[in-house]
Amino acid sequence: MPRIGIVGGGVIGWSCAHHLLELEPRADVTVFERLPSAGQGSTGRAAGGVRAQFSTPINIALSQYSIQKFETMPEIGFRQLGYLFVTASEARAESLRSIADLQKQHGVEVELLDRTEISAFAPYLFSDDLLAGAFAKKDGFLDPFAVCTWFEKSARSGGARARNGVEVVAIDAHTIQTADDSSGWDCVIVAAGHQTSALLDLPIKPEVHQLALTEPIAGLPNDLPMVVDLDTSFHFRREGNGLLIGFDDHSLAHPQNESSHPPAFDPKFLERLAEPSLHRLPLLSEARFDARKCWAGFYAQTPDHHAVIGSLNGVVTASGFGGHGIMHSPAAGRASAEIVLRGRCETFDLHPLRPTRFQEDDLIVERMVI
Ligand SMILES: Cc1cc2nc3c(=O)[nH]c(=O)nc-3n(C[C@H](O)[C@H](O)[C@H](O)COP(=O)(O)OP(=O)(O)OC[C@H]3O[C@@H](n4cnc5c(N)ncnc54)[C@H](O)[C@@H]3O)c2cc1C
Repeated sequence: MPRIGIVGGGVIGWSCAHHLLELEPRADVTVFERLPSAGQGSTGRAAGGVRAQFSTPINIALSQYSIQKFETMPEIGFRQLGYLFVTASEARAESLRSIADLQKQHGVEVELLDRTEISAFAPYLFSDDLLAGAFAKKDGFLDPFAVCTWFEKSARSGGARARNGVEVVAIDAHTIQTADDSSGWDCVIVAAGHQTSALLDLPIKPEVHQLALTEPIAGLPNDLPMVVDLDTSFHFRREGNGLLIGFDDHSLAHPQNESSHPPAFDPKFLERLAEPSLHRLPLLSEARFDARKCWAGFYAQTPDHHAVIGSLNGVVTASGFGGHGIMHSPAAGRASAEIVLRGRCETFDLHPLRPTRFQEDDLIVERMVI
């Protein structure tokens, strides 16, 4: 009966626990989480977007596996209303076309749209300057916290234990050390999000991202997809009767330390959001924001915008998911469980995600990043 200790009780850690027990019901699994309960890190602060529209085969594969899994999880509020990417830049339009070819080769049902088609499909967008769009109908969004809870409940009903409120201070291939004790394991998994680099030598950095929620807003269909303006990163989706809006605000100070607390929402975000958002979605001029319903959180960012899944000095890690950790959580859990229990991952070719790629300076960069 393998004993496995997991550091990190976010969506990735609990997905690992679920998938370990799915593959080996006799496994003895414990999840260590420094906060009082699961999903309080980046997981609870995500927008819940799920898409297969990526630019590298591995990210497409992780999404496709995960989308199929989400389709079997009714409790998570998965709404497959699609993702619509648009651009007014010739270079990005060209890139969107070549990326769509790659996606189609890998089985993604993606459709390229010209300006007339975008304006018919999404009449609420200002489209006079748009050159191209891409829409994949199986993409969508869900409740991120519900996904974490689903994995946690499943794993706990299979016998997994949670040690909440316990910070892990050091690890090696077979040991987890907390402030109070040290325990031995057949395998240790680190799924500590942006704090992974405190335990493992990996270039994973915290990066602040913010989301704003509008008050109820009229004039938009209920079946609105996730819409992304690739030129500015302004993106939005329905949340209740309002809109949940994101925007990669590069002018924010990015913390250099491994802060463990969620960053505070910066109200200046709303000022910086105004220009790109009003340009693309003019009816936002009617929208009202309440800064108390806006929030910030950390991406665990890697230099190539790909996660790290694999073994490093005998420790397995699944971390560095940037803005994709919710949508890739089923695949990440499955991959980690196979590495631990079978010695290698058979479902995915994880070579591009191996932890040693940074030292080897052998990176493939994801271009469809928000
Ligand atoms: C604003 C925003 C929007 C986002 N939107 C999306 C989206 O639309 N779609 C998507 O897929 N993803 C999105 N993400 C990214 C997503 O939230 C993350 O990729 C995902 O939550 C990562 O999960 P995780 O389990 O790796 O990390 P976390 O949820 O951060 O979990 C890691 C856990 O490890 C714990 N931990 C760390 N160190 C230790 C230690 N030493 N000892 C014990 N416990 C420890 C932490 O307390 C934390 O709970 C978004 C993120 C943000 C901030």
